[in-house]
Amino acid sequence: MVKKMTPYERAVGALHNEQVDELPAYPLACAIGRRLLPQKTTLREMSVNAKACADSFIAAANKYKFSYTVTLIDLAVQAHDYGANVRMDEENTAFVTDHVVHSPEDYEKFQPLDVSKGRIAYLIEANRQVAAGLKNKAFVACHVEGPLLALSQSAGAERLFMDMFSDPEPVLKALSNTTETCSRILHEIAKTEAPALLWNFLWGNYSVLGDKEYKQFEGNDKYAYRLIKETRDLGLGFAIHNCADMPHLDTQIKAYKPDLYSMAYYPLNPSSPSATKVLDGGYADKCVVAGQIDPQLFARGTTAEMDSSVKNLCQEVKTGLCKHNLNSKWCIASGCEVPPELNTPLENIQTFMDGVDHYGKMEY
Ligand SMILES: [Zn+2]
Repeated sequence: MVKKMTPYERAVGALHNEQVDELPAYPLACAIGRRLLPQKTTLREMSVNAKACADSFIAAANKYKFSYTVTLIDLAVQAHDYGANVRMDEENTAFVTDHVVHSPEDYEKFQPLDVSKGRIAYLIEANRQVAAGLKNKAFVACHVEGPLLALSQSAGAERLFMDMFSDPEPVLKALSNTTETCSRILHEIAKTEAPALLWNFLWGNYSVLGDKEYKQFEGNDKYAYRLIKETRDLGLGFAIHNCADMPHLDTQIKAYKPDLYSMAYYPLNPSSPSATKVLDGGYADKCVVAGQIDPQLFARGTTAEMDSSVKNLCQEVKTGLCKHNLNSKWCIASGCEVPPELNTPLENIQTFMDGVDHYGKMEY
């Protein structure tokens, strides 16, 4: 029997494939944490008020005893600072309503940003506070939009994908500049107490880009590998979130070599990798895989349904870990953010955590 561990010890233990008392647990309960604060905090405030945002993450990790925390807020932070129009409703996650690119010349508008200003500065400050507040309590991975995600949010995904094929040069040049902005953000986050950085390489997805295109537009030395190397050189842990249905696991896990890979599972798509497929593919040998409870279950499921999903996943993961001679390289997690709306029942988060506590116990 492994002695009782803290949530943080489980997180670190799993990163080193050590024996753990139970599997680490983390639903990506991000903006929903605001509902735990004593004062009313809207989704809009999460995107503009660094302290309210940080307090929300800290409150959620402390209340539910999360092993990890990923500071995902919205995907329009960099787009906003590149000049896209971002709509921020009181109770809606911020999103882009008017893009920056209307002609090929508009890719010139992407110049490296001053990260001491705008929403990027807010993002860095929120991460600084979360990292300080959760030090040695939850393993914090600061969420940053990757260069292709930042560009697709700003330019508009449809437009960008057409331009990638018809006129790639301006797109590639803009990507060099969004990569430079990402690098500047990374250097600021490295000055905080955060142990790790999580890159959101959203479009690493087979249904959108084949291997060749993915290499051309993200998976090469100018873009992703540059940022990964800098992340490592600055002494930060390196995580990836990709909630696509068919992620490029060979590139993003076997070639990029992250410490933690947060992923989803779409059971209706036969090509979407289940926990068993991920384990049998040898991917958890390379990093901690975090997944893959359906985020919608938190909003729409009953506590009984949540309990049985967690039970099934824990059993599947424990069987796979044993088969592959692994001690702990899995975090029971949601596939993407728990819907942050006011009507998502908080009981489902508690049921999820209780479920891992119960069904995720490890014996060696
Ligand atoms: Zn996601």
